[in-house]
Amino acid sequence: MLHLRSDKNDAGEICGYNQEMHELIDEIKYSQRKTMAIEVKPGGKVIVRAPKGTRKNTIQQFVQQKSCWIAQAKDRMIKISPAEVKQQYHDGAQILYLGHLWKLQLVDKVKGGLKFNAEEGFQLQKDRLDEAADLIKNFYREETRRLVSVYIDQYASKWGLKVIDLRITSAKTRWGSCSAKNGLNFSYRLAMVPLDALEYVVVHELAHTRHHNHSTAFWGLVAQMMPDFKKRRQWLKLNGRKLPSI
Ligand SMILES: [Zn+2]
Repeated sequence: MLHLRSDKNDAGEICGYNQEMHELIDEIKYSQRKTMAIEVKPGGKVIVRAPKGTRKNTIQQFVQQKSCWIAQAKDRMIKISPAEVKQQYHDGAQILYLGHLWKLQLVDKVKGGLKFNAEEGFQLQKDRLDEAADLIKNFYREETRRLVSVYIDQYASKWGLKVIDLRITSAKTRWGSCSAKNGLNFSYRLAMVPLDALEYVVVHELAHTRHHNHSTAFWGLVAQMMPDFKKRRQWLKLNGRKLPSI
């Protein structure tokens, strides 16, 4: 589920403009809960969950405080169609790549069966439609390996870190992991997420080569390597479990 809890630590900045509550949210759901929370669904629907009997004023205030976060979350979730749970491969279907949805075109012939470029999006050879899932998976794998390698080289040399091995996995719930011997694993699903979030995952796993835990020292190193890491991981928290299955 994608919701923001009303903790003080969360992005609580107030936007420079004052929007009416009804412009920001679509629905208020009251229940036997103790705190308020905001949930943004794929497609961009915004729901506020509030304890029974909460006054409109209180909700209004809460929503206003979170207006920046809501705007950003909505922006991202709108790009993710609520229907796209299982990846489709028909002409005109959309494929997620680096945080954007690209159009899929079925064509008569294309080198390798599948091609991507920023002008035309994805092109898939019609008579290889039954291999579509494998072709896109391979594309994601290669892209993940390529992009992750660039960041590993960059950060490892700058911070004096050593990586023994790099593997691309099909993990669904883990973006990355670091073995006891400092081999790094990354899910091919990272090719679906925005580049700045992918870069965060690389930094996170690289920091594990020095601290094999989530201690304060670990998070200190992450923050040193990437001061804006909290902003970058937001997309993963919001959309991570809603990516289409291939
Ligand atoms: Zn970790």
